[in-house]
Amino acid sequence: MKFQDATIAEVDQVMQEAWQAFQVYRKTTLKQRADLMRAIAQELEAAGDRLITVAMGETNLPEARLRNERARTMFQLTSYAAACEAGHWLEARIDTAVPDKGDPDLRKLQVAIGPVVVFGASNFPFAYSTAGGDTATALAAGCPVIVKAHPAHAETSEIVAQAIAKSVAAAGLPKGVFAHVHGAGFETGKALVTHTHTRAVGFTGSYGGGKALFDWANQRKMPIPVFAEMGSINPVFLLPGKLKASAKELAAQLAGSITLGTGQFCTNPGLLLGVEGEGLDNFIRELGAAIEKVAPGTMLHPGIAKAYTEKRGAALGQSEVETVAVAAAPPKENQGVPTVATASAEAFFKNPLLHQEVFGPYSLVIRCPDAATLLKAAQLIEGQLTVSLMATEADLSEYSELAEAVQEICGRLILNGVPTGVRVSLSMQHGGPFPASTDSRFTSVGADGIKRWVRPLAYQSWLDAALPDALKNGNPLGIWRTVNNELTQAAL
Ligand code: NAP
Repeated sequence: MKFQDATIAEVDQVMQEAWQAFQVYRKTTLKQRADLMRAIAQELEAAGDRLITVAMGETNLPEARLRNERARTMFQLTSYAAACEAGHWLEARIDTAVPDKGDPDLRKLQVAIGPVVVFGASNFPFAYSTAGGDTATALAAGCPVIVKAHPAHAETSEIVAQAIAKSVAAAGLPKGVFAHVHGAGFETGKALVTHTHTRAVGFTGSYGGGKALFDWANQRKMPIPVFAEMGSINPVFLLPGKLKASAKELAAQLAGSITLGTGQFCTNPGLLLGVEGEGLDNFIRELGAAIEKVAPGTMLHPGIAKAYTEKRGAALGQSEVETVAVAAAPPKENQGVPTVATASAEAFFKNPLLHQEVFGPYSLVIRCPDAATLLKAAQLIEGQLTVSLMATEADLSEYSELAEAVQEICGRLILNGVPTGVRVSLSMQHGGPFPASTDSRFTSVGADGIKRWVRPLAYQSWLDAALPDALKNGNPLGIWRTVNNELTQAAL
């Protein structure tokens, strides 16, 4: 189905409506917002099989995966709704007046930042798209949302947008609380990011896309924050004791992770590093054997398949890169071929192309001559969503400097596990130092994601009756607050 790209005048209209809606929506109660989020989850379910069928047609993703992803998206909405109501994210603080010292009464909380423009990724048509984590957390914070539909699943996005719009109308909220804009060219996205009423941007996608949006936002007369979650190669460090004890199991585990969903996850393990020796040789051999057995899979869309073929070709074409294994079955049109290659640490240090994400079922094993070189590699790698250490207890104490160094380059540090599989919970950190994300202080998964869309506002010497409920003496919301440096739910 073809959708009309929004004109610049239409983008302006949508942003004017969002700005007007913001004046109403930011004053809604936490319960109203949570009810809206729960209603959207119900509408997603009510969209039934049609939503799944359309998404299957647009993304080539299998039915079971899409049903799971819809369930995950509904869980995001309902669990973030509960977090919205619990109000921890408001960070309510009260310091009562100290007349003797002349200190005034001060009370602070987090308030909605304003209309948020959301760009979703093609590889998560539900969970990181129209009603995905960015939309859910922004609605929780009290911000209207304007989604730029991903052209690779525009009809799926349209159905989800209708479900959201229906929920907004049923709640009696202004229409401008949610808007959905199509635009296959960069102009629509640029117009949204640079519009005077836009206050923040949420993005999930490629480095090129995220960085372009970030630059536009910073070149505005009034710069705004861009929370871009971009590509990552999620390094996995294979330590000698672990390799010696379980090379075959590690190979099976990693082959599964590299090829999961035809490698189309931002948490795909694209870089494996170990110290040369019998353990690493065995591992590479076992990994190669496992990869050969995985059938090529159809990728999300021809553009992603083309990009994979080109980037994989460029990587394998480097003189220092040696192909270890390629899937035995020949690929059909738009399929991604599972591939593992290897290179020396020396080549990795010299050639920046070996650090780039090859989005698809591809991984590169770096052979380091010794522990010092492995450490040097860890210090050189750019910011990542995750780092995994495959290690025994003895490895961990022997490689303690490495375990320290990798903390500098990632948002989630995994022991003896693969990076694919991102739990939706409060302790999750999905975001890492640049270039994995544009702001490593925040997460895009888990209810802490709400904190991206707020700013602190302090009230000095304010009348109790005129304060927001979260700061009133009586604590009518019953939330946890820090009162004179003590965390309490008690009224003043
Ligand atoms: P993408 O091509 O960057 O597209 C994402 C969205 O941004 C689309 O709506 C796209 O619209 C828009 N966009 C891209 N470049 C733009 C530009 N220069 N100006 C304006 N808008 C632009 O990403 P994708 O191919 O859908 O997703 C795959 C990538 O996402 C991979 O690199 C993967 O690692 C990453 N990813 C990251 C995470 C994470 O949480 N860190 C999660 C999932 C995926 P148009 O198509 O119209 O350009």
